Order: sequence, then C-alpha cells, then structure tokens
Amino acid sequence: RLDVTNLSRSFGGRKVVDGVSLSVAAGQVTCLLGPSGCGKSTTLRIIAGVDRADAGEVRLDGQTVAGPGVHVPPELRSVGLMFQDFALFPHLTVAENVGFGLRLDRAEKARRVGELLEKVDLGGFGPKHPHELSGGEQQRVALARALAPNPRVMLMDEPFSGLDNRLRDGIRDRTLDLLKEAGTAVLLVTHEPDEAMRMADEIALMRGGRIVQKGAPYNVYNAPVDKAAAAFFSDVN
Ligand code: ATP
Ligand code: MG
Repeated sequence: RLDVTNLSRSFGGRKVVDGVSLSVAAGQVTCLLGPSGCGKSTTLRIIAGVDRADAGEVRLDGQTVAGPGVHVPPELRSVGLMFQDFALFPHLTVAENVGFGLRLDRAEKARRVGELLEKVDLGGFGPKHPHELSGGEQQRVALARALAPNPRVMLMDEPFSGLDNRLRDGIRDRTLDLLKEAGTAVLLVTHEPDEAMRMADEIALMRGGRIVQKGAPYNVYNAPVDKAAAAFFSDVN
C-alpha cells in the first residue's frame, strides 16, 4: 500500500504541492483528479522518487522511502510508472522491452515475459520490433513492461489519453483488472472526471496543489465540496 503524508514542493517560491496526504490500499485504485497545473504529476514524481519533496513523507507497504533524512532512490522503490508518452526501446524486440531490467535468470525471464504478453493479448509478438506494432499494441507492450517487476504500487499519469476511445476503454479496463488481480495499489492521474468516476475506488480531487476533497466517486459526484468542484463534475454523463 501507499501512504503519503503532508507532501509539499515549491518551485521558485511557489508551492505547487501543498500538504498532500493520501493513501491507496493494495488492490485499490485512487484517482488523483484535477485541472491542468494543479500539481498531479509533481506529486507522482515525488512518490516515484525522481523528484524530492521539501517536506512530507512517502511510505510503501509501511517502509519510509522519502521523508526527513530519507531518500530511497527510484530503482529501489517497488513502484511502477506508466506515463502518456511511454517509450519503448526501438532497437529492442517486444520481449526484450518487457524483460528489460528484470533481475531473473534467462529461463525465468522468458517465462515471465511470455506470461505477460499473453495477458495483454500479444502472445507471439515477442520477436517483433516496436515499429512493426500499432500504437495500441505498443501501449500494451508498455503495460506489460510496467507490470513485469510486479511492483507493489503503480503510478499512472494519464497513460491512456493518447489512444482512440474504443481502444482506450478496453486497454484501460484490462490494465486495471490485471493490477487489482496482482494486489497492486494504483494511483491514477487524470483530468477527466468521467474516467475517475468509472475507474476509481476513491477519488482525490486536487486544486492549486491541495487535495480539496476525497471520497468514493459517487459521494464526490453527489456532494461536491464547493461550486468549483461541482462545475468540474458538471459534464460527467
Ligand atoms: P497537467 O494536467 O497539465 O499535466 P499537473 O497537475 O500534472 O498538470 P504539474 O506538472 O504537477 O501539473 O505542475 C504543477 C505546477 O508546477 C505547474 O504550474 C508547473 O508549471 C509547475 N512545475 C512543474 N514542474 C516544474 C519544474 N521542474 N520547475 C518549475 N515549475 C514546475
Ligand atoms: Mg501532469
């Protein structure tokens, strides 16, 4: 599970993350929802360890990985990352991309990669190169790669927004099902209320660096904390 307490981060004297606290239990999806520039990606970067907070604490399964005097480097955190501009290594095959960085022996790695490619419906794609794949197929490879080390926490920053609608729903549902099945705690960033309503166990509504409301999608939708929150949800159908 993921526990974030009182995270703050300033750039040039401006607080872009301001006392953010949130938790995600194993097998649950929390959507970090809010308008452009409210601090979502910065929050994720701090949790991943690629940026440092000025204050606050990040714990993964109870272990402090960021906090006063503590900074565990990203590669030693059991955290997976999926971003919109996911990048596959063009010179590596699909199988090599998925297995990249896995600390397993050859046979184990091949088994794990094969299993993951089956799960994302890309069995048989292992020897191909990324340029031979469609955008949606490439995105599924990126998904398999993110799942490969079986991270305890998955951080997703609008990873589905580059896909066309039809493809997106399928890939998104499948991805989250796989993560839930593995008991991963998922923090999913989006600025689309629709997506949060559909995918989240809990929504954390962010504005101006702060979490202004937290709760089950139904509750956040039906009892918005203020007019701005209501307006934000107004075009959900
Ligand atoms: P979007 O939905 O557009 O991706 P976001 O909620 O992810 O927005 P962030 O990327 O976290 O927003 O940025 C929050 C604010 O912090 C923005 O005003 C941004 O310009 C600023 N910011 C982010 N990173 C830096 C940086 N390295 N240096 C200076 N300012 C930054
Ligand atoms: Mg962002």
